Amino acid sequence: MSPNASGWRSVEIVLKGARRMRVTGKIAEIRQWTAEARAAGKGIGLVPTMGALHVGHASLIDEARRRCGFVVVSLFVNPTQFGPGEDFDNYPRPFERDLALCEQHGVDVVFAPSAAEMYPRENLSWVTVSGITEHLCGRSRPNHFRGVTTVCTKLFNIVGCDVAFFGQKDAQQCVVIRRMVADLNMPLEILVCPTVREADGLAVSSRNQYLSAQQRKDAPIIYEALKKGREMIEAGETDPARVRERIEAVMRRAPALQIEYISLVDPETLEDVKRIGRAVLIAVAARLGPARLIDNIVVDSGR
Ligand code: AMP
Repeated sequence: MSPNASGWRSVEIVLKGARRMRVTGKIAEIRQWTAEARAAGKGIGLVPTMGALHVGHASLIDEARRRCGFVVVSLFVNPTQFGPGEDFDNYPRPFERDLALCEQHGVDVVFAPSAAEMYPRENLSWVTVSGITEHLCGRSRPNHFRGVTTVCTKLFNIVGCDVAFFGQKDAQQCVVIRRMVADLNMPLEILVCPTVREADGLAVSSRNQYLSAQQRKDAPIIYEALKKGREMIEAGETDPARVRERIEAVMRRAPALQIEYISLVDPETLEDVKRIGRAVLIAVAARLGPARLIDNIVVDSGR
C-alpha cells in the first residue's frame, strides 16, 4: 500500500468472518463512516496514537472493543507536538505492521492522515490548556501539550467519538486532555487505561527501540525506583523530599540515566505536594542515550 497526497489510500481489508477493517487517510471518508456507524446505533470509540503500535496500544484498543460498537484507531505522527531537535523525523513508522495489529485486535477503521490532510494551511488556531501544562514535561517541552491538545481536538471533531482511550503511561497528557474536555464541554468521555509493562517492569514505549542492549538493561531501574518510592509512602513516609531522594539514589545506580525530573505531585493539579496525603502521582523523566523515557505511578496510601 502506498501513500497518496492526502495520506494512505483508502482500502478495505476483509477479515475472516463478517468483520472488515477499513483504512483511510481522508477526513471526509472517516466522517462518513463514523456517521454511518452512529446511524446504526453504535457507540464510537477512538484510540489516538502515533503508530509504531505495541501491546500498550493494543490494551487500549481491546478496552475500546469491549466498550464501543465501533472502534477507530488513528495513526498520526503529529508534527506540532514535537519541538526542534526532537525525534519527529526518526520516529518509527511501521505502517503495515500497525495495520496488522489493528486487524488482529478487531479495529473497524484506521485513520492514517498525512500532515497535509491534518494541517492543509498554516495553523492559526490552537487549543491551549494553561497551568497544568507548565509542570513536569511542560518545562522541557514548551509547545508539546499545545500540539497534543490541538491535534486531539481535531481528531475528536473529525471522528465524533463518544469515548477516547488514553494510557496512564502519559499521566500528564491524561490530566491535560481530561481538563480540556471538561473546560470546553466536549461531548465525549475520556477513559484512562493502566500502563502496560515489559516483564522486567519497563513501561512499553515506541521509543524503547532507540535503546542499545546495555541501555535496555539499565532502563527497568526507572520502575524499580518508582516502586521504592511507593513502598516508602505505603510504610508511612509523608515527606516528599525524602521519597524523592530515595528514588534518585536508586536511579543513580544506572549512571547512564540522565534524570530530567523526579516529581511528587497532586494527581489532578500536578502541583508539587508539600506533604504526602492521600493520593500522590510520582512522575519521572530521564534520558537514556537517544531516548527520553517517562514513567509514573499513582500511590493511594488510603490515609
Ligand atoms: P503514542 O502512540 O505514544 O502517542 O501513544 C498513544 C496512546 O497509547 C497514548 O494514550 C499513550 O498513553 C498510550 N500508551 C503508550 N504506551 C503505553 C503503555 N505502555 N501502556 C498503556 N498505554 C500506553
